[in-house]
Amino acid sequence: MKQTYAIIGLGRFGGSICQTLVESDQEVLAIDSNEDRANAYMDIATHVVVGNAQDETTLRSLGIRNFDQVIVAIGEDIQASILVTLMVKEMGVPNILAKANNEYHARVLEKIGADRVVHPERDMGVRIAHKMVSSNILDS
Ligand code: ATP
Repeated sequence: MKQTYAIIGLGRFGGSICQTLVESDQEVLAIDSNEDRANAYMDIATHVVVGNAQDETTLRSLGIRNFDQVIVAIGEDIQASILVTLMVKEMGVPNILAKANNEYHARVLEKIGADRVVHPERDMGVRIAHKMVSSNILDS
């Protein structure tokens, strides 16, 4: 079934989510405050907007509250990530996935109501370690 996604931040994480969702035939609105980043997704995402997601008026005018899923993929600017997640939550988006930069960031995102928090470097490390252990068990 087709769902509507809004991705805020088109770094490596947000960008790869955008590409994969579009390849899976999903409808994707991509937002980035950096014009070059946004332009790189013009031919990929369903809609692309250059804008600061910390600006509540921008989020409202994009109708963010009507999306099925919002991905907050802002990395380094932790304050922006927290504020945007909070605003999107208050607007009533049913499903919010947010990217955390560290454990403290992850805890705050969970507290303010992100439905799923990912910490890509840590999560990938855990997954790889589990795979190594299970393939060792299978080999032994
Ligand atoms: P990655 O690891 O996914 O490459 P990162 O952790 O390095 O990302 P950043 O590059 O800091 O994260 O942010 C990801 C993207 O989010 C950038 O393209 C940046 O321009 C965008 N971004 C940051 N703040 C905002 C904002 N307030 N509104 C919209 N986009 C933003």
